[in-house]
Amino acid sequence: MITPIQNSLYNYPPLQYKKQPQSTNNAACKKVLNLNNLPFYKNQISFGQSDDEKIRKYMKKIRLKHTRHGVTYKNIDLYNTKKLEGIQKDIDVFKGLSMEQIKFIAKHSTEFVLQRGCHNMCAHCYAKAMPPSYQKMPDKINKIDFEDFEKLYYGFKELNKKLGFSIFKSAKNDYNTLFHDADSSTIFLQDKNGKVYDYLDLSKMVHELTDKTVLFDTAGWNIQDKKTQKRMEELVKKAASSDEYDFMEFNISTNPFHALNYRALQHLKNGDYEKYDKFRDIYTTRMANVLFTFTPLIEKEQVNLLARALPNETRHAKGYREDDLLKLYSEVFIKLLKLYKQDYESGAHKVIKDEEQINKNLDYLNKKLKKVDKSMGINGRLADIVTDKKIVAYKATKERTYANPHKAVKAFTDGLIDINGKLYVMNWYETYPTDIQLNYKNKDKITAPIHPSLNEQKITSDMLEDLDNRK
Ligand code: SF4
Repeated sequence: MITPIQNSLYNYPPLQYKKQPQSTNNAACKKVLNLNNLPFYKNQISFGQSDDEKIRKYMKKIRLKHTRHGVTYKNIDLYNTKKLEGIQKDIDVFKGLSMEQIKFIAKHSTEFVLQRGCHNMCAHCYAKAMPPSYQKMPDKINKIDFEDFEKLYYGFKELNKKLGFSIFKSAKNDYNTLFHDADSSTIFLQDKNGKVYDYLDLSKMVHELTDKTVLFDTAGWNIQDKKTQKRMEELVKKAASSDEYDFMEFNISTNPFHALNYRALQHLKNGDYEKYDKFRDIYTTRMANVLFTFTPLIEKEQVNLLARALPNETRHAKGYREDDLLKLYSEVFIKLLKLYKQDYESGAHKVIKDEEQINKNLDYLNKKLKKVDKSMGINGRLADIVTDKKIVAYKATKERTYANPHKAVKAFTDGLIDINGKLYVMNWYETYPTDIQLNYKNKDKITAPIHPSLNEQKITSDMLEDLDNRK
């Protein structure tokens, strides 16, 4: 017997979505992709011709010192980067960069950006994503060249080999993404021979370097977009059929700020109920299809829901508050239930093989709606929606301002490597450009502006001096 789920949706306490991934997957991925099983990690240090005997001796000294005290030496933080200078020589992607700069990249490597731009136009998008077509000009790029991604991959792989450990171990964040302002469902790369690398292939390469969970975030795709639908079905099948991708976490975002729901709510405001119903239906049908497509991964418990809304007490924001979000989810879940029933009762069994699965999956999704994240910064498109002065003032006090790059260089733990190799550091409210850039083939290309709140001042490499106290 299939039980209706809509009433239970309203009973959940507020959800605090944590971007930081859960440790359960980490444990699984360590089992599957233990770096110590990889050939280049086994022999802890293997220097090439260009490496210096002095570096080798220095590393051995530090290693012995820390091992004596029971401390693992597999972390760049235990070494004085000046004494490692030269180890990166001959690795093309690091041309012109010091070890201090490379370490700074590794520490802030939350996002290995492969593509820029997004069609979803969510009002709450902290990255203020614009459609990628805005950047189609000769000197601009909106996708990384596969050769550059390979350069990054092989460059860091070689450096890790020379160090004897992953330089990314020192990064504070415990997950990576392949995007900053793009939807994961649109991300894939092609090499010069036409070979396609899907999101899983590319994530695996990043995971091999960092040993961290890799996130896949989607706010869905147009139900008529057959290419994306096929790509997602293949990706889900691949991820669900082996434990090779257990290091991945799949996040699905149904939110009232999506452009389609935003349009629906604008029509509602103007009293045009017919158009409200039309856009609301398009959006909820789309999200039910996304959940249906990801069902094999829901069953593997690898799917999370990104549930974001404004606090219920926000005035003049009808449609965007926590209770509105739960109503939106209930409409999506009702449509998902219908899809499940159709799949089972028609005998198609595309994702539902037995009836029990239906309630199990819906229960799982309901549990994922435990809390709603209300911590969004109010800037960009969201500032047009939120006019409640009290809320704006409250949020402003939470958004700490780092007007001084000397402070930000110490405080900001996250960052992104753009598709032209430039490094930016951020705290999710503010961003600083740096003078650090990987030696990409496309290093001179222009990319879309970076958000949130890009400071005019730069973090420069001389500011990194104070960060390394080891002598
Ligand atoms: S899907 Fe993500 S990147 Fe795209 S607009 Fe929405 S929040 Fe921004």
